[in-house]
Parts: sequence; structure tokens; C-alpha cells
Amino acid sequence: MYFPQPYPDELLGSLFIRACHHLGLTPRMLIAALSEGSDSVPSFIYPGLIAAVARHTGMSAHELLWEHTVFPHISIALDSARRDVLEAQILDSNAPGSSLRLQSTFPPHIEALTFRRSCEVCQRHDRATWGEDYWHRIHALPGVLVCPIHGSPLSISHVPLLAQITKEHNRLPHEVDFDRRRWPASEPTLRDLASEVKAALRCETSAWDYCLRSCQNAATSRGYEYGARAKSVNRLAIEFEHYFGSRLLEELGLPLLTRSSDAWPVELLRGRRPAMQLPLRLILLRSFLLASAAQL
Ligand SMILES: [Zn+2]
Repeated sequence: MYFPQPYPDELLGSLFIRACHHLGLTPRMLIAALSEGSDSVPSFIYPGLIAAVARHTGMSAHELLWEHTVFPHISIALDSARRDVLEAQILDSNAPGSSLRLQSTFPPHIEALTFRRSCEVCQRHDRATWGEDYWHRIHALPGVLVCPIHGSPLSISHVPLLAQITKEHNRLPHEVDFDRRRWPASEPTLRDLASEVKAALRCETSAWDYCLRSCQNAATSRGYEYGARAKSVNRLAIEFEHYFGSRLLEELGLPLLTRSSDAWPVELLRGRRPAMQLPLRLILLRSFLLASAAQL
């Protein structure tokens, strides 16, 4: 069966949509053709059917998982041992599962994280280069509100990231209506944050134990205290909130409820792992610590 090759940083869900377009199939028919006997609809964001796609594209399953799915982003919330187990499970299975806890990474009630996003400059570039546009993985990740390549604000669609690719959602960027949003933060802050999300996709660093240790080392070398004992105002909490601004943190669903050592960035440094939005929390913390290093 003909099957398209993924473009650079293309999400697997976008590849399914293009395959449907090229082959003239509905999403359900595509899944039936890829995985015999299956009667489901593909997910846009969940890394499923990797073995079947690997067979049809001639790519390795490992490369598909790491270059074309959100797995490396989600894995920064997992210990490296757990990450390796989960990677083996996903590569082994053809069925969409729930072990990635996608709802905690893409909370459906937070508008800034919930919908498919796209960069208009990337769209024009992709049409000129490849003859069609596609959904980039980096634009879908939490914390990416401007394009890390072009620095331009992303346009936001009304298609939920977590929605399956039904006939209604079987659309490429040029087939979707977008809204423009202005974010309550400076462009350099948003660009640095997007770059940090991109940097966190590197597989050697993409695990909780590694990320936490690097944040702790950075915090210590900048003289930030993150012990639990002091209940008074914590300098890291104050400077963290000042750097991103309380309005942006609210838009991202991660406001600081206190400026003491109980503030979530300080608790995170102590190793506490809140259930919701752990990858984005780590990335915000890293982005802040890197920026504060640049000021030294
Ligand atoms: Zn772009």
C-alpha cells in the first residue's frame, strides 16, 4: 500500500490525515487498512500504530516514536527506567492506550494548551517546499505559544488536540479556521520558553531524574534556596513569577498560589511531583533558571 513519508517534526496524527487525503480514505478505513480487523479511529496526539507505520514507511519504530510523537515531551515527567518500560510497551502495541495520561499533559480546560496550533509562516514554507502543509509536533506542545523557528505567534484552531481524527477533524492546517491570540508576556520570554520545550525533546535528557538534577544544580549555582523549612517569602518563587508574569502563568493553568517555599516551582525542586502538567512545570522552571543564568 502507498503511504506518505513523514515530514520534519510532523506529528503521527498529521501523517494519518495526509495519508487519508492522499489515499482518499476515511480515518476509519485507513486504520482498517493499517491494522487488520481494527475498527477504531486514529488519535491525533497519542503515539499509536507505530509498528504498522514503521512497516509502511520503512522507518524504525524508535525513530517514529522519538521524532514524530509527543512521547519525548511526556517522558520528562517519568523516571528513565519507567520511560524505557513505557517505550517498549508503546512500540509493542497497536492499540491506543491511556498509560501516557495525556489529560494531565494537555488539560482540556486550559485554552492555551488545548487546541491544534499552527504557524502561518511554517504553513507557507511547507506548501512551497513540500506542496502541502502539515501539523508540526513542536507547535502542539504545552508552553509553545510562538513558533520556535520564526518567533511568530501561533494561530489557534478550534480542533481539540485530544480529539480523535474523526471525519470532522480529518483536516490539515489550510482546511481549518484559526484565531489570533495575544499572550500577556514579552516576545523574548515566549521565544525562550518555546526553545526550551524544543530542547527538552532530546532523548538523552528526556527523563525526570535527569531534568530534576539539572534544575537543582542550576538553582544551587544561582544561590536559590529550595528547602522546606523557611515559610517566609522565597526568592526563587518571587523571581519566577516576576519573570513569566502572573497573567501568563494563569493562562497556562499554573499560577503561584503562594510565594513561600510551598510555591510549586520550589516544591518541584524538592522532588515533589504534582499530577497535572508536570512536563510544562519542569520546562518553565528550566527556562527561568537558564534566563537567570544569562543575567549573571
Ligand atoms: Zn514557523
